[in-house]
Amino acid sequence: MTKQNLLRAMGSTMDFGADRFHNKLVVSAVDDDSSKMDAITAEHITKYYNSRHIINDVSLRIRSGSFTSFIGPSGCGKSTLLRMLANLETPSSGEIKWWGVDKRIIGSPGRRISMVFQEPTLMPWATVLQNIALPLQLQGVSRNETKEAVIKALELVRLQNKEALYPRQLSGGMKMRVSIARALVTDPNILVMDEPFGALDEITRNQLNDDVLRLQHELDMTVIFVTHSIQEAVFVSSELVILRENPGSIAASFTIDKPAELWNSSDEYRISDHYFTMVKEVTQAFKKAY
Ligand code: ADP
Ligand code: MG
Repeated sequence: MTKQNLLRAMGSTMDFGADRFHNKLVVSAVDDDSSKMDAITAEHITKYYNSRHIINDVSLRIRSGSFTSFIGPSGCGKSTLLRMLANLETPSSGEIKWWGVDKRIIGSPGRRISMVFQEPTLMPWATVLQNIALPLQLQGVSRNETKEAVIKALELVRLQNKEALYPRQLSGGMKMRVSIARALVTDPNILVMDEPFGALDEITRNQLNDDVLRLQHELDMTVIFVTHSIQEAVFVSSELVILRENPGSIAASFTIDKPAELWNSSDEYRISDHYFTMVKEVTQAFKKAY
């Protein structure tokens, strides 16, 4: 496997063809107050695999700092759409812009994207520490800088003291934390998560939902998330998109404003009228789409 393919397999989504000089030019042309602009805009994107129409005419805006979830049944094209938004796949037609610019901006400072997959995809022969360090090592980052970044990433996912363990010694939830730490180690501005918690039990999933919200806030990230679960989507999202199938397109979208008094208590939010009302509304829209 080449270095680039290895990086991609771990969810590092830089455009490896881009030369640094060009990135510099692009960055300087951009208003650097990224909080004001959309992180991603997609216009009329369509995707075919051979002659199969997978995604049809999707247009959307991902606001900087938002938490956008996509829900839809298996096979409706969620992963395909996500991979295009993460620049791991190119649309057949239509246009995607990142921070108002084309894909060449991805990977420059303040313009990084990382992806987390449903399977933690850890290297079994490597320790937790080595797994998290890998993306930086492959990018040629110095040892000291790598060590510092890995320690920070371990703290962020609350895995201090676990750095010497191997993947087989970890629970499912801990493996997923390592996978998230490996995505965070490159300091992403957009974190793309494809059904990350689908295989976990409900208690672990709830804890990780809380963690991801905390991380989003602490690290000031834009998060894009896929789940099968309406409850999970309503809990984590500020924007929620229901996809329809054959071909995948947008059936409905919602903005979810969490009441200020519930911001600091996920336990209360989970049992609040506001939460249940949103779950009901989204469930009804989902039924309409299917
Ligand atoms: P979801 O994530 O919603 O389950 P996917 O985006 O993985 O859906 O897949 C949507 C459809 O596209 C499926 O029918 C799948 O078989 C097909 N598909 C996905 N990736 C490829 C690929 N690389 N080549 C051909 N077909 C693909
Ligand atoms: Mg999928």
